[in-house]
Amino acid sequence: MKTFKLAVFVFVLTGGLALAQEPESEPVIDFKTTEVAKGIYMLSGENGFTGGNLGLLVGDEAVILIDDSMPQFLDKMQDSIKAVTERPINYVLNTHLHGDHTGNNAAVSDAGAHIIAHDNVRKRLIKKGIKTEDVMQPAPKNTLPVITFQEAIHLYFNEQPMRVFHVPHAHTDGDAVIYFSDANVIHAGDVFFNGRFPYIDLSSGGSLDGMIAALKKIDSMADNNTQIIPGHGDLADKKDLKAVIDMLEDSRDKIQVLLDQGLDETAIVAENPLVDYHNDWNWGFITTEKMVKQLVQSLSQDTPHSH
Ligand SMILES: [Zn+2]
Repeated sequence: MKTFKLAVFVFVLTGGLALAQEPESEPVIDFKTTEVAKGIYMLSGENGFTGGNLGLLVGDEAVILIDDSMPQFLDKMQDSIKAVTERPINYVLNTHLHGDHTGNNAAVSDAGAHIIAHDNVRKRLIKKGIKTEDVMQPAPKNTLPVITFQEAIHLYFNEQPMRVFHVPHAHTDGDAVIYFSDANVIHAGDVFFNGRFPYIDLSSGGSLDGMIAALKKIDSMADNNTQIIPGHGDLADKKDLKAVIDMLEDSRDKIQVLLDQGLDETAIVAENPLVDYHNDWNWGFITTEKMVKQLVQSLSQDTPHSH
């Protein structure tokens, strides 16, 4: 089981090469479907191992999917959606560019859906291209968002208004957060890892300070009844969000003190400044050591920038 989970995460990072190392007896992994409000669903894999948590809005006017998992889970994703609605998907929102959130873009757009995302998601997907038979190819058109935005885009379907807005330099430089204003539901994408250390993709324009600012913005919109779908982890509320903000701010302070003393990354890792968080927040993909390293690197950058 552990091996398989690791393989999936390596897969996400390398874009597919690690899949060959999957153990023979693949455990059955299914999406769990939770209706969080009228016509709004969260689709999540066991421990988030079918990729990031999906959001789904269904109704008479449109079917809108938030993120689309990874290619090896396409059939299961489609089965889970069909169990909720027979209607085709009209729009897919990508919360950011990572492969566990955009992995089925081609399949869903071939089936007729239009992909919506921040400008930088489209730009980065084009730049990154796609690996076919070990050769890098230009990104095919059907993998790309065809409707993009800079600051925000609002959708009005099924009496469930969606305010989709950008939070700069957080998990990446193309993050979108979706606020269902009437339903009081937020899909936070990977800006929010619930109950575990987050991944901050510095090489895609993410930053610690941007992530904290984004979480605070979500916190300012949420009340005690708001349901928050995190990119990874269980369905959350404002308390869970606050716990992450507190952990990140305290971690930033602890590491900044050591940076101010002139310690380098190796010396800071040796100090183990996040030891108190290890038991509750360490996990297979972002270990305590990796968390320290990414915070040191983020705090050592002058300002986050797009590459
Ligand atoms: Zn991500």
